[in-house]
Amino acid sequence: VIVGVDIGGTKVLAGEVTADGQVGRTARRQTPGRRVPAPLVEAALTEAVLEVVAGERLEAVGLAAAGFVDVTRTRVLFAPHLPWRGDDVVARLSAAWGVPVLMDNDANCSAVAETTYGAARAAGSMVLITLGTGIGGAVVLDGRLWRGAGGMAGEFGHQQVVPGGRPCQCGRSGCWEQYCSGSALLRESRARLAASPALLAACGGDPGALTGPMVTEAAAQGDAVALAAFAEVGDWLGVGLANQVAALDPALLVVGGGVSDAGHLLLDPARAALARSLVGAEDRVVPPVVAAALGPEAGLVGAAVMVRELLQEDQSVGG
Ligand SMILES: [Zn+2]
Repeated sequence: VIVGVDIGGTKVLAGEVTADGQVGRTARRQTPGRRVPAPLVEAALTEAVLEVVAGERLEAVGLAAAGFVDVTRTRVLFAPHLPWRGDDVVARLSAAWGVPVLMDNDANCSAVAETTYGAARAAGSMVLITLGTGIGGAVVLDGRLWRGAGGMAGEFGHQQVVPGGRPCQCGRSGCWEQYCSGSALLRESRARLAASPALLAACGGDPGALTGPMVTEAAAQGDAVALAAFAEVGDWLGVGLANQVAALDPALLVVGGGVSDAGHLLLDPARAALARSLVGAEDRVVPPVVAAALGPEAGLVGAAVMVRELLQEDQSVGG
């Protein structure tokens, strides 16, 4: 059994991934948090992996981690929701489990999954943006994932788009994800909550109880406040995508993450803003903006694809 594990800010999702990319048994755990000893997180991973393996033979594990993973794909340099800081997690887990382990950033893993099985199969180059609490990103050029010299390519969320703008958790200000993310969607919705009976009813009058799926549902029902929030976030999405296209000229733009569940409510304003903001838009091919195809399992599928490739390379080298 080859297992992929997505280690997110709030949950760990492990799944068996077959050679053709199908997800079999899955298991979930809460992510213990970043102020706990690392062995607690590793114990949660072990539990989830063993539940998926269910007594069969474990062959390898691919980990998709929400954070900066170094270019050797063994260490988490920094992750806002995890306790790992530069230690060789992969060596430790590989020794504990007795199988090859590989780790990469979660957006990179999603990009590999979308390129292998999903929305970007026919595209030689693409930029992937995942919109959750913040922004994740990944770059595929000439059919290969571009990790960057230090493994940190694709951190688009912290491109500064408004000098002196909203403060960001990264310690800087005006970052793109402060304007284009699930958090930004909630901020826009809460600011006009009083004008939306649908959102007020959904959150029971408590702005703190409002969630992204509530805003998505209200927008789908035609609620004006929710639609305006998606129009605003979608507009910022298109503006930021224009920057990525200006830099990299990819064939395709893929948008995933929970916020993208809103589909055209998000992507239509993004396409309009992209066409408006992109340099030379009248005289070039503007890349299509499409929704990711694989949903919340993309990260674990991509991690499994990568570790399967590693096994095949080892076998071809070892004979
Ligand atoms: Zn930032």
